[in-house]
Amino acid sequence: MEKKNIDWANIGFGYMKTDKRFVSNFKDGKWDDGQLTSDDQVVISECAGVLQYSQSCFEGLKAYQTEDGRIVCFRPDLNAARMADSAKRLEMPVFPEDRFVQAVVDVVKANAAFVPPYGSGATLYLRPYMFASSPVIGVKPADEYQFRIFCTPVGPYFKGGAKPITIKVSDFDRAAPNGTGHIKAGLNYAMSLHAIVTAHEEGFAENMYLDAATRTKVEETGGANFIFITKDGKLVTPKSSSILPSITRRSLEVVAEKYLGMEVEEREVYFDEVKDFAECGLCGTAAVISPVGQIYDHGNMIQFPSGMDEMGPVTKKLYDTLTGIQMGRIEAPEGWVKVIE
Ligand SMILES: *Cc1c(COP(=O)(O)O)cnc(C)c1O
Repeated sequence: MEKKNIDWANIGFGYMKTDKRFVSNFKDGKWDDGQLTSDDQVVISECAGVLQYSQSCFEGLKAYQTEDGRIVCFRPDLNAARMADSAKRLEMPVFPEDRFVQAVVDVVKANAAFVPPYGSGATLYLRPYMFASSPVIGVKPADEYQFRIFCTPVGPYFKGGAKPITIKVSDFDRAAPNGTGHIKAGLNYAMSLHAIVTAHEEGFAENMYLDAATRTKVEETGGANFIFITKDGKLVTPKSSSILPSITRRSLEVVAEKYLGMEVEEREVYFDEVKDFAECGLCGTAAVISPVGQIYDHGNMIQFPSGMDEMGPVTKKLYDTLTGIQMGRIEAPEGWVKVIE
Protein backbone atom coordinates (compact mmCIF):
# COMPACT_ATOMS: atom_id res chain seq x y z
CA MET A 1 0.00 0.00 0.00
CA GLU A 2 1.39 3.32 -1.15
CA LYS A 3 1.19 5.75 1.79
CA LYS A 4 0.01 9.32 1.28
CA ASN A 5 2.74 11.89 1.09
CA ILE A 6 2.33 13.25 4.61
CA ASP A 7 5.02 14.48 7.00
CA TRP A 8 3.96 11.88 9.59
CA ALA A 9 6.34 13.06 12.32
CA ASN A 10 4.95 16.59 12.23
CA ILE A 11 1.18 16.31 11.97
CA GLY A 12 -0.67 17.67 14.97
CA PHE A 13 -3.74 16.40 16.79
CA GLY A 14 -6.24 17.86 14.35
CA TYR A 15 -8.65 16.97 11.57
CA MET A 16 -7.44 16.11 8.08
CA LYS A 17 -9.92 15.02 5.45
CA THR A 18 -9.31 11.44 4.29
CA ASP A 19 -10.70 9.52 1.29
CA LYS A 20 -13.68 7.59 2.67
CA ARG A 21 -16.10 7.58 5.58
CA PHE A 22 -18.97 5.24 6.53
CA VAL A 23 -22.56 6.49 6.69
CA SER A 24 -25.74 4.69 7.71
CA ASN A 25 -29.18 6.20 8.25
CA PHE A 26 -31.93 5.14 10.65
CA LYS A 27 -35.39 5.72 9.23
CA ASP A 28 -38.83 4.09 9.62
CA GLY A 29 -37.54 2.15 12.61
CA LYS A 30 -34.48 0.56 11.00
CA TRP A 31 -30.88 1.13 9.96
CA ASP A 32 -30.14 0.98 6.22
CA ASP A 33 -27.21 -1.06 4.85
CA GLY A 34 -24.85 1.90 5.06
CA GLN A 35 -22.03 2.67 2.68
CA LEU A 36 -18.61 4.17 2.31
CA THR A 37 -18.69 7.58 0.70
CA SER A 38 -16.26 10.28 -0.43
CA ASP A 39 -18.71 12.99 0.66
CA ASP A 40 -17.50 14.63 3.85
CA GLN A 41 -20.49 17.00 4.13
CA VAL A 42 -23.54 16.37 6.31
CA VAL A 43 -26.77 17.97 5.15
CA ILE A 44 -29.60 17.94 7.69
CA SER A 45 -32.72 19.91 8.55
CA GLU A 46 -32.23 23.25 10.27
CA CYS A 47 -34.45 21.77 12.98
CA ALA A 48 -32.54 18.47 13.39
CA GLY A 49 -32.66 17.07 16.91
CA VAL A 50 -28.90 17.28 17.25
CA LEU A 51 -28.94 21.01 16.51
CA GLN A 52 -31.80 21.81 18.89
CA TYR A 53 -31.36 19.48 21.85
CA SER A 54 -27.88 17.97 21.38
CA GLN A 55 -29.03 14.40 20.87
CA SER A 56 -25.67 12.93 19.90
CA CYS A 57 -22.98 10.58 21.13
CA PHE A 58 -19.57 9.53 19.88
CA GLU A 59 -16.61 7.21 20.26
CA GLY A 60 -12.87 7.46 19.64
CA LEU A 61 -10.36 4.75 18.79
CA LYS A 62 -7.15 4.35 16.84
CA ALA A 63 -5.77 2.17 14.06
CA TYR A 64 -2.04 1.83 13.58
CA GLN A 65 0.64 -0.18 11.93
CA THR A 66 2.40 -2.76 14.09
CA GLU A 67 6.08 -3.65 14.05
CA ASP A 68 5.45 -6.50 11.56
CA GLY A 69 3.54 -4.25 9.15
CA ARG A 70 -0.04 -5.26 9.92
CA ILE A 71 -2.77 -2.66 10.35
CA VAL A 72 -4.72 -3.22 13.54
CA CYS A 73 -7.04 -1.48 15.96
CA PHE A 74 -7.44 -1.89 19.68
CA ARG A 75 -10.56 -3.45 21.27
CA PRO A 76 -13.14 -1.91 18.89
CA ASP A 77 -15.77 -4.25 20.35
CA LEU A 78 -15.61 -2.23 23.58
CA ASN A 79 -16.23 1.01 21.68
CA ALA A 80 -19.23 -0.66 19.99
CA ALA A 81 -20.63 -1.77 23.35
CA ARG A 82 -20.04 1.63 24.95
CA MET A 83 -21.74 3.42 22.08
CA ALA A 84 -24.72 1.09 22.49
CA ASP A 85 -24.91 2.16 26.15
CA SER A 86 -24.65 5.83 25.19
CA ALA A 87 -27.40 5.46 22.57
CA LYS A 88 -29.80 3.77 24.99
CA ARG A 89 -29.31 6.46 27.64
CA LEU A 90 -30.01 9.17 25.03
CA GLU A 91 -33.10 7.40 23.60
CA MET A 92 -31.30 6.79 20.31
CA PRO A 93 -31.42 3.54 18.31
CA VAL A 94 -28.43 1.24 18.88
CA PHE A 95 -26.21 0.72 15.86
CA PRO A 96 -25.63 -3.07 15.98
CA GLU A 97 -22.30 -3.83 17.64
CA ASP A 98 -21.08 -6.31 15.00
CA ARG A 99 -21.88 -3.81 12.26
CA PHE A 100 -20.03 -1.09 14.19
CA VAL A 101 -16.87 -3.22 14.26
CA GLN A 102 -17.27 -4.11 10.56
CA ALA A 103 -17.67 -0.42 9.67
CA VAL A 104 -14.47 0.39 11.61
CA VAL A 105 -12.65 -2.27 9.56
CA ASP A 106 -14.12 -0.99 6.30
CA VAL A 107 -13.18 2.64 7.02
CA VAL A 108 -9.61 1.75 7.96
CA LYS A 109 -9.21 -0.46 4.86
CA ALA A 110 -10.58 2.25 2.60
CA ASN A 111 -8.11 4.75 4.10
CA ALA A 112 -5.13 2.42 4.55
CA ALA A 113 -2.91 4.94 2.79
CA PHE A 114 -3.54 7.29 5.71
CA VAL A 115 -2.45 4.83 8.39
CA PRO A 116 0.85 6.27 9.65
CA PRO A 117 3.88 3.99 9.35
CA TYR A 118 5.16 2.05 12.37
CA GLY A 119 7.55 4.07 14.47
CA SER A 120 6.31 7.48 13.31
CA GLY A 121 4.46 8.06 16.58
CA ALA A 122 1.39 9.03 14.56
CA THR A 123 -1.83 6.95 14.37
CA LEU A 124 -5.12 6.94 12.49
CA TYR A 125 -7.82 8.24 14.81
CA LEU A 126 -11.34 6.97 14.15
CA ARG A 127 -14.41 8.90 15.18
CA PRO A 128 -17.68 6.94 15.19
CA TYR A 129 -20.67 9.12 16.07
CA MET A 130 -24.41 9.28 15.87
CA PHE A 131 -26.85 12.16 15.87
CA ALA A 132 -30.54 12.96 15.58
CA SER A 133 -31.05 14.05 11.98
CA SER A 134 -34.81 14.64 11.70
CA PRO A 135 -36.68 17.79 12.84
CA VAL A 136 -37.58 18.07 16.52
CA ILE A 137 -39.16 21.12 18.08
CA GLY A 138 -41.25 19.78 20.97
CA VAL A 139 -38.76 18.11 23.30
CA LYS A 140 -38.67 14.41 22.42
CA PRO A 141 -36.34 11.90 20.75
CA ALA A 142 -36.03 12.30 16.98
CA ASP A 143 -37.42 9.72 14.54
CA GLU A 144 -34.34 9.60 12.29
CA TYR A 145 -30.62 9.28 13.01
CA GLN A 146 -27.32 9.14 11.19
CA PHE A 147 -24.35 7.01 12.20
CA ARG A 148 -20.97 7.90 10.72
CA ILE A 149 -17.34 6.95 11.11
CA PHE A 150 -14.61 9.15 9.72
CA CYS A 151 -10.90 8.90 10.33
CA THR A 152 -8.02 11.33 10.43
CA PRO A 153 -4.30 10.78 10.93
CA VAL A 154 -3.07 12.36 14.15
CA GLY A 155 0.42 13.04 15.42
CA PRO A 156 1.80 11.91 18.73
CA TYR A 157 -0.28 13.57 21.44
CA PHE A 158 2.87 14.80 23.14
CA LYS A 159 5.65 15.99 20.89
CA GLY A 160 9.02 15.15 22.38
CA GLY A 161 7.62 12.71 24.94
CA ALA A 162 5.14 12.95 27.74
CA LYS A 163 6.17 15.59 30.30
CA PRO A 164 4.27 15.67 33.57
CA ILE A 165 1.51 18.25 33.66
CA THR A 166 0.01 20.46 36.34
CA ILE A 167 -3.74 20.22 36.78
CA LYS A 168 -6.20 21.98 39.07
CA VAL A 169 -9.13 20.89 41.17
CA SER A 170 -12.08 22.40 39.35
CA ASP A 171 -14.84 24.39 40.99
CA PHE A 172 -17.13 23.26 38.18
CA ASP A 173 -18.82 19.88 38.08
CA ARG A 174 -18.53 17.54 35.11
CA ALA A 175 -21.32 15.09 35.84
CA ALA A 176 -24.30 14.83 38.15
CA PRO A 177 -25.08 11.72 40.19
CA ASN A 178 -27.52 9.68 38.06
CA GLY A 179 -26.76 11.98 35.11
CA THR A 180 -24.90 11.28 31.86
CA GLY A 181 -21.27 11.22 33.06
CA HIS A 182 -20.92 7.51 32.32
CA ILE A 183 -21.81 7.80 28.63
CA LYS A 184 -19.97 9.46 25.77
CA ALA A 185 -22.48 12.20 25.03
CA GLY A 186 -21.43 15.30 23.13
CA LEU A 187 -23.28 17.38 25.69
CA ASN A 188 -20.81 16.34 28.42
CA TYR A 189 -18.11 18.03 26.39
CA ALA A 190 -20.12 21.16 25.58
CA MET A 191 -20.54 21.90 29.27
CA SER A 192 -16.87 21.18 30.03
CA LEU A 193 -15.54 23.78 27.57
CA HIS A 194 -15.90 26.77 29.88
CA ALA A 195 -14.13 24.87 32.67
CA ILE A 196 -11.20 23.84 30.48
CA VAL A 197 -10.78 27.26 28.85
CA THR A 198 -10.78 28.80 32.32
CA ALA A 199 -8.20 26.27 33.56
CA HIS A 200 -5.97 26.95 30.54
CA GLU A 201 -6.19 30.71 31.13
CA GLU A 202 -5.01 30.09 34.67
CA GLY A 203 -2.06 28.06 33.38
CA PHE A 204 -3.30 24.53 34.10
CA ALA A 205 -3.32 21.70 31.59
CA GLU A 206 -6.45 19.95 32.83
CA ASN A 207 -9.18 19.90 35.46
CA MET A 208 -9.65 17.34 38.18
CA TYR A 209 -13.38 17.02 38.74
CA LEU A 210 -14.69 15.91 42.10
CA ASP A 211 -18.00 14.16 42.70
CA ALA A 212 -20.76 16.75 42.39
CA ALA A 213 -22.75 15.55 45.43
CA THR A 214 -20.08 15.77 48.15
CA ARG A 215 -17.00 17.27 46.47
CA THR A 216 -14.83 14.88 48.48
CA LYS A 217 -14.12 12.16 45.91
CA VAL A 218 -12.02 12.12 42.74
CA GLU A 219 -13.93 11.55 39.51
CA GLU A 220 -11.97 12.22 36.31
CA THR A 221 -10.89 15.00 33.95
CA GLY A 222 -12.89 16.28 30.97
CA GLY A 223 -11.76 13.42 28.76
CA ALA A 224 -9.53 11.03 30.67
CA ASN A 225 -9.73 8.76 33.74
CA PHE A 226 -7.28 8.93 36.64
CA ILE A 227 -4.80 6.28 37.63
CA PHE A 228 -2.86 6.48 40.91
CA ILE A 229 0.10 4.45 42.10
CA THR A 230 0.47 3.93 45.84
CA LYS A 231 3.83 4.14 47.59
CA ASP A 232 3.80 0.34 47.83
CA GLY A 233 3.19 -0.07 44.10
CA LYS A 234 -0.56 -0.71 43.81
CA LEU A 235 -2.67 0.65 40.98
CA VAL A 236 -5.70 2.53 42.30
CA THR A 237 -8.47 3.87 40.04
CA PRO A 238 -11.52 5.84 41.16
CA LYS A 239 -14.85 4.04 41.07
CA SER A 240 -18.02 6.04 40.49
CA SER A 241 -21.20 5.63 38.49
CA SER A 242 -20.63 9.06 36.91
CA ILE A 243 -17.18 8.31 35.44
CA LEU A 244 -16.87 7.43 31.76
CA PRO A 245 -15.59 3.82 31.61
CA SER A 246 -12.30 4.40 29.78
CA ILE A 247 -11.14 1.47 27.67
CA THR A 248 -7.54 2.54 28.24
CA ARG A 249 -8.06 2.48 32.01
CA ARG A 250 -9.76 -0.91 31.94
CA SER A 251 -6.90 -2.25 29.78
CA LEU A 252 -4.27 -0.79 32.14
CA GLU A 253 -5.92 -2.58 35.05
CA VAL A 254 -5.46 -5.90 33.22
CA VAL A 255 -1.88 -4.99 32.23
CA ALA A 256 -1.03 -4.09 35.85
CA GLU A 257 -2.41 -7.32 37.24
CA LYS A 258 -1.60 -9.86 34.54
CA TYR A 259 1.61 -8.49 33.02
CA LEU A 260 3.22 -6.60 35.89
CA GLY A 261 1.94 -8.62 38.85
CA MET A 262 0.59 -5.51 40.57
CA GLU A 263 -2.33 -5.30 42.93
CA VAL A 264 -5.23 -3.37 41.43
CA GLU A 265 -7.95 -1.54 43.33
CA GLU A 266 -10.96 0.12 41.73
CA ARG A 267 -12.61 1.98 44.58
CA GLU A 268 -13.80 5.36 45.75
CA VAL A 269 -10.79 7.66 46.04
CA TYR A 270 -11.13 10.55 48.49
CA PHE A 271 -9.42 13.75 47.49
CA ASP A 272 -7.83 13.86 50.95
CA GLU A 273 -5.76 10.76 50.18
CA VAL A 274 -4.45 11.98 46.81
CA LYS A 275 -1.44 13.65 48.50
CA ASP A 276 -0.29 10.22 49.70
CA PHE A 277 0.04 8.60 46.27
CA ALA A 278 3.44 8.17 44.64
CA GLU A 279 2.36 8.73 41.03
CA CYS A 280 -0.63 10.03 39.15
CA GLY A 281 -1.67 9.86 35.50
CA LEU A 282 -4.53 10.52 33.12
CA CYS A 283 -5.51 7.81 30.69
CA GLY A 284 -7.43 7.78 27.44
CA THR A 285 -7.11 6.73 23.82
CA ALA A 286 -5.55 9.99 22.63
CA ALA A 287 -2.42 10.08 24.84
CA VAL A 288 -2.63 6.58 26.43
CA ILE A 289 -1.19 8.01 29.69
CA SER A 290 -0.36 11.63 30.55
CA PRO A 291 1.67 11.83 33.73
CA VAL A 292 0.46 14.33 36.32
CA GLY A 293 3.26 15.95 38.32
CA GLN A 294 1.23 18.24 40.55
CA ILE A 295 -2.33 19.16 41.44
CA TYR A 296 -3.33 22.67 42.46
CA ASP A 297 -6.07 22.85 45.06
CA HIS A 298 -7.17 26.35 46.09
CA GLY A 299 -3.78 27.78 47.02
CA ASN A 300 -2.20 24.45 47.92
CA MET A 301 0.01 22.48 45.50
CA ILE A 302 0.11 18.70 45.85
CA GLN A 303 3.40 17.47 44.42
CA PHE A 304 3.93 13.81 43.58
CA PRO A 305 7.32 12.27 44.42
CA SER A 306 7.71 11.34 40.72
CA GLY A 307 8.26 15.06 40.03
CA MET A 308 7.89 17.27 36.97
CA ASP A 309 10.69 15.92 34.78
CA GLU A 310 9.44 12.54 33.69
CA MET A 311 6.76 9.91 34.05
CA GLY A 312 6.86 8.03 37.34
CA PRO A 313 8.59 4.63 37.07
CA VAL A 314 5.46 2.51 37.54
CA THR A 315 3.40 4.70 35.21
CA LYS A 316 6.19 4.30 32.64
CA LYS A 317 6.07 0.51 32.95
CA LEU A 318 2.30 0.56 32.46
CA TYR A 319 2.67 2.86 29.48
CA ASP A 320 5.43 0.81 27.86
CA THR A 321 3.57 -2.45 28.34
CA LEU A 322 0.23 -1.23 26.99
CA THR A 323 1.77 0.54 23.99
CA GLY A 324 3.94 -2.56 23.43
CA ILE A 325 0.78 -4.68 23.27
CA GLN A 326 -0.88 -2.18 20.94
CA MET A 327 2.12 -2.01 18.61
CA GLY A 328 2.57 -5.79 18.49
CA ARG A 329 5.87 -5.90 20.39
CA ILE A 330 4.29 -7.73 23.34
CA GLU A 331 1.75 -10.52 23.04
CA ALA A 332 -1.78 -9.22 23.57
CA PRO A 333 -4.52 -10.85 25.62
CA GLU A 334 -7.03 -12.81 23.51
CA GLY A 335 -9.27 -10.48 21.49
CA TRP A 336 -7.53 -7.19 22.22
CA VAL A 337 -5.99 -6.59 18.83
CA LYS A 338 -8.27 -6.60 15.81
CA VAL A 339 -6.23 -7.24 12.66
CA ILE A 340 -7.55 -5.26 9.73
CA GLU A 341 -5.04 -6.25 7.08
C1 LIG B 1 -13.51 9.03 26.00
C2 LIG B 1 -13.35 9.45 27.42
C3 LIG B 1 -12.35 8.90 28.26
C4 LIG B 1 -11.31 7.96 27.76
O1 LIG B 1 -11.81 6.73 27.32
P1 LIG B 1 -10.93 5.77 26.40
O2 LIG B 1 -11.86 4.68 26.05
O3 LIG B 1 -9.78 5.29 27.22
O4 LIG B 1 -10.47 6.58 25.23
C5 LIG B 1 -12.34 9.30 29.58
N1 LIG B 1 -13.22 10.21 30.07
C6 LIG B 1 -14.17 10.75 29.29
C7 LIG B 1 -15.10 11.74 29.90
C8 LIG B 1 -14.27 10.39 27.96
O5 LIG B 1 -15.23 10.96 27.19
